[in-house]
Amino acid sequence: MPSRPLPAGLHRDTLAVRTALPPSQHGENSEALFLTSAYVQPDAATAAQRFAQSEDFTYSRTGNPTVRSLEARLAALEGTEAAIATSTGMSAILLLGMGLLQAGDHVVCSRSVFGSTINLFAKEFAKFGVETTFVSQTDPAEWQAALRPRTRLLFAETPTNPLNEVCDIAALAAIAHGAGALLAVDNTYATPTLQQPAALGADVVMHSATKYMDGQGRVMAGALCGPKHLIVDVFGPVMRTAGMVLAPFNAWVVLKGLETLSLRMHAQSERALTIAHWLETRPELGRVYYPSLPSHPQHALAMRQQSGQGGAVLSFDLKADSPEAARAAAFHVIDSTRVLSVATNLGDTKSIITHPATTSHGRLTEAQRQAAGIGQGLIRLAVGLEHVGDITDDLLRGLTTLTTR
Ligand SMILES: *Cc1c(COP(=O)(O)O)cnc(C)c1O
Repeated sequence: MPSRPLPAGLHRDTLAVRTALPPSQHGENSEALFLTSAYVQPDAATAAQRFAQSEDFTYSRTGNPTVRSLEARLAALEGTEAAIATSTGMSAILLLGMGLLQAGDHVVCSRSVFGSTINLFAKEFAKFGVETTFVSQTDPAEWQAALRPRTRLLFAETPTNPLNEVCDIAALAAIAHGAGALLAVDNTYATPTLQQPAALGADVVMHSATKYMDGQGRVMAGALCGPKHLIVDVFGPVMRTAGMVLAPFNAWVVLKGLETLSLRMHAQSERALTIAHWLETRPELGRVYYPSLPSHPQHALAMRQQSGQGGAVLSFDLKADSPEAARAAAFHVIDSTRVLSVATNLGDTKSIITHPATTSHGRLTEAQRQAAGIGQGLIRLAVGLEHVGDITDDLLRGLTTLTTR
């Protein structure tokens, strides 16, 4: 099949469905799934050459055409030169650390990031002599003050899970670069549909593609996006040795997911905004955490940074007199639902209701949880594609029958 290269200047929506390796000789219109561990070489000399330069396909730990198509599409969406796909979002952060850090190095990280991210930096990387200082999500002065001569990496996530706290990517990039360090941003929540951290100065964009990129809660996947000198030259060799590769089938599922990412993000974000406004009118609730609400502390920054949209995750606090009463109320609201999924995931077309304090953030110490602002009365709702009225009715079943106030 002679392949026609895509013209320059295409819009992101077009790149999301068109960017891939050229089709095989059969001319398939839907990208092929290459379920193979090894690749037959034409002769021993070619094999020797391919193994030496690791450009062509030899073994799927070092490269697979389906995974390569996903990487090309991801890079096109994030506006970076390259991308490297990983088995999960956490293994993307593992790859980031293995590629950039060594014993004696120092990292500055927001204390509001994903629970497993905190554990990876605070416990696992610490075993290898990498120290991490955790700072305020929202105050760049704390990041600046935490810098040390051996600070190599600033790690941010915005908006954060589950409170939707927003950090200023451009400000953090300036702080990192002023200190000769790199800024990595976890863009799982906003996705490139709403936010492109590289355009704001981030050096590496990290993803849990398990979430909106797959979009239907089927497979786990992750990625790092960035310039070639990092993705190809720094992370590529670590990946080939350490092997946290994405399985071809999972890559294919996410590749297909990316084709509808923009439609889903806009539709789910719109539903989340409607529900957030409705939640703000409910007397049973304390704060509602959603960036599009004018009551959100970083509302203006979020709207500027996220294409004017809040994303599809919101959280709310139930009013209660004690942590025990708050937890009982939260469990009641969750257990009263009949449509929503009681699960710990987000980015699915099925709306998911979660109690962060006992699930996603359950492994943190109470002090770490307090610092991250995750109370016992907090409920997270990852809004999917159901009818908004059915979601609010499902929440009302519990809200209107609360006994612990
Ligand atoms: C889920 C998630 C991760 C971890 O990704 P996995 O694919 O579960 O390994 C990291 N960051 C954020 C913001 C997430 O939501």
